[in-house]
Amino acid sequence: MRASWGRRIGGCGVAALLAGCAGSNHWTDGSSVSIGRASTGGIRKPAELDVRALGLHVPRKWRARGFRFGTDELVDGIYRIAAQVSSRPGHATLGVADLSRRTGGPSQWHHSHHSGRDVDLLFYTTKADGTSLPPPEDDMIPFDGDGRPWLRPPRDGTVPEPTWGERRFDAGRNWWAVESLLSNPSLRVQWIFISEPLERRLLDYAETASRPDWLVRYAELVMLQPSDAAPHDDHFHVRVYCSRADRAYGCEDSGPIWQHEKKVYKYPGPEHYDPLAWRVERDDASAASGPDPAG
Ligand SMILES: [Zn+2]
Repeated sequence: MRASWGRRIGGCGVAALLAGCAGSNHWTDGSSVSIGRASTGGIRKPAELDVRALGLHVPRKWRARGFRFGTDELVDGIYRIAAQVSSRPGHATLGVADLSRRTGGPSQWHHSHHSGRDVDLLFYTTKADGTSLPPPEDDMIPFDGDGRPWLRPPRDGTVPEPTWGERRFDAGRNWWAVESLLSNPSLRVQWIFISEPLERRLLDYAETASRPDWLVRYAELVMLQPSDAAPHDDHFHVRVYCSRADRAYGCEDSGPIWQHEKKVYKYPGPEHYDPLAWRVERDDASAASGPDPAG
């Protein structure tokens, strides 16, 4: 749910908005609401990812499933990554795999992705000579710690991705995607699941590129190779926290609340979350620069 939802009033009258809006027995204020937990919940009035948005592409494997729905904040955050990375030299395209179904809830493909707060993003890839490649259409491609692909036998009748062998993990652009997420003032990132060797590659890149210390440490905090799920060596899985407004409507976080979140977590009232302010306060003035899309 957004803090500013004036243009999303839709069919909900102004008087009703003041008290919330009941449609089909479901309460919302007219914007998206993530309900319950990421692994048991659902979503109301989700944002639908615009598959023609600048700098992104939903490859056919995932387009066919139609898992294009998420909270307003998450979908905006995906647009932000795509626009920022594509504005850099090479104009690379972000591959977006599954968000949630229109109503959220369970699916055969995911343990989580129920409540509009999860998205799978394909890694940016290049050829061996560094030229950027468009996202693969048919499957995710796993990479080892050297950023080289390996061939995974196709699972459950899926088509193998024919371009796997020519691809390399694009540490630079994948870092810029992480940086876009973590510097987004309206998105509160809980996890970026990724394999440990690839996390290391990203952190190494960030250090080489002299990224602000707070960003590198923040990335180190939220990037994780899950112990109870796939190692995530073939995509990012991003999980965001409930917005404050959604919590009032039944959104539930599970797992750790990071220290910097605790500062704002316990207070009721309108969202005024601003991670940049928190980080700038903590760190040196270079923190204020954030990602540089043109750099
Ligand atoms: Zn996922």
